Amino acid sequence: MNGQPDANNVLRSTQIVIEQALRKLGYGDEMIALLQEPIRMLTVRIPVRMDDGTTKVFTGYRAQHNDAVGPTKGGVRFHPDVNEDEVKALSIWMSLKCGIADLPYGGGKGGVICDPRKMSFRELERLSRGYVRAISQIVGPTKDIPAPDVMTNSQIMAWMLDEYSRIREFDSPGFITGKPIVLGGSHGRETATARGVAVMIEEALRTKGIPLQEARVVIQGFGNAGSYLAKFMNDAGAKVIGISDVNGALYNKEGLDIDYLLDRRDSFGSVTNLFENTITNEELLELECDVLVPAAIENQITSVNAPKLKAKIVVEAANGPTTLEATRILTDRGILLVPDVLASAGGVIVSYFEWVQNNQGYYWSEEEVDTKLKKMLLRGFQQVYEVHQTRGVDMRLAAYMVGVRKMAEAVRFRGWV
Ligand code: GLU
Repeated sequence: MNGQPDANNVLRSTQIVIEQALRKLGYGDEMIALLQEPIRMLTVRIPVRMDDGTTKVFTGYRAQHNDAVGPTKGGVRFHPDVNEDEVKALSIWMSLKCGIADLPYGGGKGGVICDPRKMSFRELERLSRGYVRAISQIVGPTKDIPAPDVMTNSQIMAWMLDEYSRIREFDSPGFITGKPIVLGGSHGRETATARGVAVMIEEALRTKGIPLQEARVVIQGFGNAGSYLAKFMNDAGAKVIGISDVNGALYNKEGLDIDYLLDRRDSFGSVTNLFENTITNEELLELECDVLVPAAIENQITSVNAPKLKAKIVVEAANGPTTLEATRILTDRGILLVPDVLASAGGVIVSYFEWVQNNQGYYWSEEEVDTKLKKMLLRGFQQVYEVHQTRGVDMRLAAYMVGVRKMAEAVRFRGWV
């Protein structure tokens, strides 16, 4: 693509920035070789009895980037485009998020190649349980702790928890996070990613001197992160002028009726199919606005559309929405970029709170969760912004430097490199 076959390979791009970050921090080739790839990658086949009596065999993955700091942690996505390189890259990004937030974890990630939109409730249950049986040897509350990600939710976490507890023959709520509250979930986990992105938007606006009440926000994606974010921005007085889903996008320069859209969206975040006057996803990204939030999937802002973006700030709620070349273009154009590994760390931070509460058997209020979340994210933003300014590197490289530092130190103390 664009004469650069590798430009959109998320693993390759991540490895490039990991290398740059480690070199800037003064580490050599061995550390780079270790941290550019997961230490462990499991591929599994999951036979699932479908409702029509046939058996379908699904492929799944679990990647564990590095456990020098502590157990690995990260979500499981159910999506037709899941692949090995993507899961590996996602596990590295989890390490960076945990590093930036200073959580006692390394990164992990899982995925199953499937389309949950085309599966029944019971088929999804059997797939979720089958996945846990397939990976049970390498996961656990002190080994590797899964969580929700794209198209997985608290119901899927509940099935996975139940399957794991049956295999291990004891109740183990700390095995997985993002659970329903009644099964040991945390208040504020469902909305945590969006809460975190909202905090980052406020900080970025402050840095640019734009009042929140005057901000025009465009959000690509109306799933867990995008939809709650639209609500938070709307409630805070900002104008959400554009949103999108897989089918198309909606635009109203006076601001969209977010409560109405939330009410009508389905559980996968689809809502635009109810409207006739839609614009395309490409048009949405190029709208004149203050804040653009890609909250869907990878490689949405590329060298092709980056020169045409009219946003002043880009806050990445999705994992990997901007290519490296696009990062360079946005930085050169003076657009403030809050990278994914910082902006979307809210989810894993509250997952950490959930795990802590499970370990203690003592549960916190939503206010307590929100206050602690905000504090951690603000510290993360300040650190990354400071490295960006003092070391003269772009925001993504700055985030990688902050994110990988603790892990590299832990690796060295353990004597691995
Ligand atoms: N899947 C989320 C992420 O990409 C959350 C992971 C977690 O809560 O462990 O950050």
